[in-house]
Amino acid sequence: MFLSGKTALVTGSTSGIGLAMARTLAAEGANVMLNGFGEPEMIEEIRAAIEAGGVRTGHDGADLTRPEEIERLMRRTADELGPIDILINNAGTQHVAPVDELPVEKWNLILALNLSAAFHTIRLALPSMKARGWGRIINTASAHSLVASPNKSAYVAAKHGIAGLTKTVALEAAQSKVTVNCISPGYVWTTLVENQIPDTMRTRGLTREQVMNDVLLAAQPTKTFVTVDQVAALALFLCRDEASAITGANLSMDGGWTAQ
Ligand code: NAD
Repeated sequence: MFLSGKTALVTGSTSGIGLAMARTLAAEGANVMLNGFGEPEMIEEIRAAIEAGGVRTGHDGADLTRPEEIERLMRRTADELGPIDILINNAGTQHVAPVDELPVEKWNLILALNLSAAFHTIRLALPSMKARGWGRIINTASAHSLVASPNKSAYVAAKHGIAGLTKTVALEAAQSKVTVNCISPGYVWTTLVENQIPDTMRTRGLTREQVMNDVLLAAQPTKTFVTVDQVAALALFLCRDEASAITGANLSMDGGWTAQ
């Protein structure tokens, strides 16, 4: 178990990709601070299942759109589980609407959660990683960090932004054995994707099946959704010593989407 004794914080880990990442890191021995929303019973079940593997977990429901809650989350993680060795900025949200109909509060929410939250966690975690001479920062970006789709202006702007943040911090940390990368999945079957189907049906006047096949998987040449476990496996690889030369990378896992 190559991550035994290491501490990981995975934001947005009560469902979807983040949950798979938390489980995968814990299976290699990492103690994991979970973050995200959800029913307390569901979160307790997740924690119990992970802890059955012999690691420690915590959960903090910090709302990452609020910098003061991020500061509290970071302090609590270090206090309860030790200094953060692996930081995964994964929490994210989406809203589908043309730019001139996008509610201002949705723009602010998406920029705060999908981009600014990572700035705050990174600025708070990096000094300790540098001082201790090891660290992994992994940001869940998206194919939308590389290409755009209509009706997703805030999301595409935030994801392009996090790709730039990733590259910049990677350069700043390059000589301190801290790697900084982002993973850019195509469509992964999670609640985030499920939730945008009704809006897309409404804005484009399509059936559910048409949205799935003609909108979502239209961009993905494999015509297959990426799985959360595939994304988690790539994050785990980035934590290995063999991945120490990978930094500042934007790693696509998108079924060929951005090859087009
Ligand atoms: P999800 O909806 O299943 O999970 C989102 C997580 O973020 C949940 O744990 C949720 O509680 C948490 N969260 C939401 N708002 C929060 C807030 N204000 N503060 C703290 N936590 C909050 O979504 P997912 O599909 O697993 O997405 C995870 C990441 O992957 C996101 O950054 C998303 O943009 C990215 N992504 C997803 C896909 C996809 O197709 N699903 C593709 C590319 C990138």
